[in-house]
Amino acid sequence: MTTVIDGKKVAASVIEAVKAATRALETEAGVRAGLAVVIVGDDPASHAYVSSKSKMAKECGFLSIQHTLPESTTQEELAALVADLNADPSIHGILVQLPLPKHLNSEPIIQSILPEKDVDGLHVVNAGKLATGDLEGGLVSCTPAGAMVFVRQTHGDDLSGLNAVVIGRSNLFGKPMSALLLAANATVTTAHSRTKDLAGVCRNADILVAAVGRPEMVKADWVKPGATVIDVGINRVPAPEKGEGKSKLVGDVAFAEASEVASVITPVPGGVGPMTIAMLMANTVIAAHRKAGRKPPRF
Ligand code: NAP
Repeated sequence: MTTVIDGKKVAASVIEAVKAATRALETEAGVRAGLAVVIVGDDPASHAYVSSKSKMAKECGFLSIQHTLPESTTQEELAALVADLNADPSIHGILVQLPLPKHLNSEPIIQSILPEKDVDGLHVVNAGKLATGDLEGGLVSCTPAGAMVFVRQTHGDDLSGLNAVVIGRSNLFGKPMSALLLAANATVTTAHSRTKDLAGVCRNADILVAAVGRPEMVKADWVKPGATVIDVGINRVPAPEKGEGKSKLVGDVAFAEASEVASVITPVPGGVGPMTIAMLMANTVIAAHRKAGRKPPRF
């Protein structure tokens, strides 16, 4: 029997824990967690993401601030807003929605966020803490943190003796995911576009994580029988079966055939996707607890 992980359900339980931690912080320390989300320009997909993040922040009981800046915003104006938010004691988390419009350079903006407010986990200080095995002091990128919740629920905290393969080496996902698996004692291979015999490498994985951006690339015969398969890919593909011009979302794993071989697998949509926003909320309440000098909860 293959277990299909219900990402929405797991994300909802993370959100319940965030709400409880937010209430505890407010009643016991008089501190309300605050999240500022910044969006520049008119990209409709980014606006949809940002409004769901702001809405979820309110639901969690946070002070939720959204800054919507016009497409014409300059690098200096955006930098000045981040500096203000860095200095604002009511804000514990700052998220600048990416991608920024083409005339803006995102890297100096991300690196100017105070590491302790970098709830996206993209600051080099946070990446460095994770790379050096410091899981308590920094903030971890949200999607790998969410994928790791599934891994822990399936295998427990200690992955000793298990082989993990992560396909993808991005700073946003692949590298932090590999670091989290390594910190949990898995033997980790990070595969990428230059990897030789990728299928063979994947067949060695007790835990296979795909974050590539290629629809249904991972086939059943890439999967070790009984493996745990975490599919991070989000790919929109044509779906003529739903009607002319229609499309659908698929992952990087050929779900139907791979689920015949895996023992645990995540679907797309409804797997890793819902965890990203939940872990953003978790990072914000963690940051607020730390600022108040309290031990943060673990999610
Ligand atoms: P990315 O920066 O484009 O990285 C893709 C990685 O895949 C690269 O390391 C690349 O290798 C590797 N790759 C590309 N083609 C390959 C091939 N044929 N064989 C092996 N490796 C290959 O993407 P990303 O930001 O990590 O995101 C990956 C996927 O996850 C995307 O579909 C994205 O939409 C999804 N995603 C979802 C969430 C979420 O659920 N909220 C969050 C983040 C990302 P090289 O380094 O050698 O080029």
